[in-house]
Amino acid sequence: MSAAETHARREELRSGLAAVRERIDAARRAAGRDDEVRLIAVTKTFPASDVELLAELGQLDVGENRDQEAMAKRALVGIPGVRWHMIGQVQRNKARSVSGWADLVHSVDRAALAEALDQGARGHDRVLDVLIQVSLDPQDGEGERGGAAPGEVRALAGRIARLPGLRLRGVMGVAPIGGADRAFEALHRASQELRREHPDAVEISAGMSTDLEEAIGHGATQVRIGAAILGNRGRLQ
Ligand SMILES: *Cc1c(COP(=O)(O)O)cnc(C)c1O
Repeated sequence: MSAAETHARREELRSGLAAVRERIDAARRAAGRDDEVRLIAVTKTFPASDVELLAELGQLDVGENRDQEAMAKRALVGIPGVRWHMIGQVQRNKARSVSGWADLVHSVDRAALAEALDQGARGHDRVLDVLIQVSLDPQDGEGERGGAAPGEVRALAGRIARLPGLRLRGVMGVAPIGGADRAFEALHRASQELRREHPDAVEISAGMSTDLEEAIGHGATQVRIGAAILGNRGRLQ
């Protein structure tokens, strides 16, 4: 990129970030909340140079949904302190790799995956923070989006708690189109149930560009925002 293009892109990202941070603050005020909501900029499909520009603008949490893409970007980003979130579904044969680069895996939805991530994390000599992805779409039976059924969360949490390489931090959910309010209410309920047995698992990862207000209204502690900061990805990804 030329210096002029870099400058233009930096200004685009700066204004996207400012607009999203304003929406987050307004939603927090509307919900009467004075706690923090962590913003994760979803950089999937965008180049490593965008991750660097975001980091320079103080936005250090970034979200990726593909192992190879994330690894390639991470190798290119020269700015320290970036925190990498894995927000996409993880195939079991990628678990070892993901457990090496991710700071938080949002999408643990089955025991076999938890076990593979645990093995990977221990192989890398680290403890990996994870969230349980809860399926919020009743239409999405053996879903494309992934997620454990709400009734499966308790058993999965118990399994994760016994794995020394993982630390359970909370829940994550993706709302179906048009059903954000009800979905995030259900996620909040799942979070409350989880915290009865795992009081430290306080995180609720919920809310994207179109539904962050509903998510914050239902207690989201982290929002995952792509398009509203970085622009359209073009294809559905
Ligand atoms: C792509 C993606 C996001 C961001 O979506 P936007 O609509 O671009 O804000 C959030 N969460 C998950 C799981 C995603 O795959």
